[in-house]
Amino acid sequence: MSSKSNISANTPHILILGMGGTIAGLAPNPEDSPLQYEAGLVGVDALVAQIQSVVPVGVNLVSRQLANINSRNLTEAHLTNLGLAVKEALLDAAVKGIVITHGTDTIEETGLFLQATCGKLAHTQSKRVILTGAMLPSNVPGADGPSNLLDALRWASTPIDNCPGGVYAVMDGRGCMAMDLAKRHATALNAPLQNAPSSSVGLINPSWLSGVKAVQATWNEDLPIPQEGEWPWVEILTSHAGARPETVAHWLSSAVQGFVLAGSGHGGFHDGWIEPLDRAMLQGIALARTTRTGAGATLRNIPELDKLGCCASGSLTAPRARIALQLALNAAKQANKAGKPLTWQDFFARMADLPEIK
Ligand code: ASP
Repeated sequence: MSSKSNISANTPHILILGMGGTIAGLAPNPEDSPLQYEAGLVGVDALVAQIQSVVPVGVNLVSRQLANINSRNLTEAHLTNLGLAVKEALLDAAVKGIVITHGTDTIEETGLFLQATCGKLAHTQSKRVILTGAMLPSNVPGADGPSNLLDALRWASTPIDNCPGGVYAVMDGRGCMAMDLAKRHATALNAPLQNAPSSSVGLINPSWLSGVKAVQATWNEDLPIPQEGEWPWVEILTSHAGARPETVAHWLSSAVQGFVLAGSGHGGFHDGWIEPLDRAMLQGIALARTTRTGAGATLRNIPELDKLGCCASGSLTAPRARIALQLALNAAKQANKAGKPLTWQDFFARMADLPEIK
């Protein structure tokens, strides 16, 4: 899609990649029904134009529309395109920072995806990639998009020793690592940061910063971005009272390659699933378990010994664990092709074992 700028390609600038979302949404009756709207209607260049007059002096902006969707319809092809665009921009000397406007429904998936595929590069290039969005459409009174975009631009363009290069997110005056996003509220202005350890934009808290540094010291190597059409098929299955064996058995005649189990409590699943899950694993379907509780970590062999080959997901939520499992399956395939005997579990553990920022 298009790129908008009136500066030359070599002029230092911040790149704004538009993906759509409520930040680009329009309500037909903004005064009476602000929450009845369509996402992904306003172009990213128009969002930038709204705040251009208050952008810090000397900060040049270039916008590029990658998609304009309601992010509940995010596809793996969108992620591939976004990941490749971010990588390209991180390697472009003229790009000093990257802001991504995104729908909040699946910003959680994109956050983990970008950390896992571009986090190391962002760090070594000393550039910040900042995800942002909005909970209110662009034309309602009190719309939060412009201030979120402005905060994201400020964060992407402030001197680097304030906070290292990396992949972050900003909303409602707070920032966190993008991998810590999880939308846990239907309407609150900070919905994707509800459980995230975060820091005030412009006032970075030292304990948060040391957590960021611990994550970055542990994240040694970015994983490959799957090509469009090469993403492994992974489903999320939620365990619940009255769970039936058929829920798992149903998939065994399909080409599914992995399950993320959103289990109860510590990430356990109903005993009715033991037998079909054993069959799934014998068929080579990858299995990772996480918790449906919405907070806390799922730990290896807790409370019972894990089945051989089944991975606990640490603090990854089910949507994040699904992206992690897809990236891990793809990375293992690429490594094996290159003659390296690494398993998907090796790659998955790198993401599940990242230090938690408290
Ligand atoms: N449904 C919207 C989206 O994810 C919600 C939002 O952006 O806040 O695109």
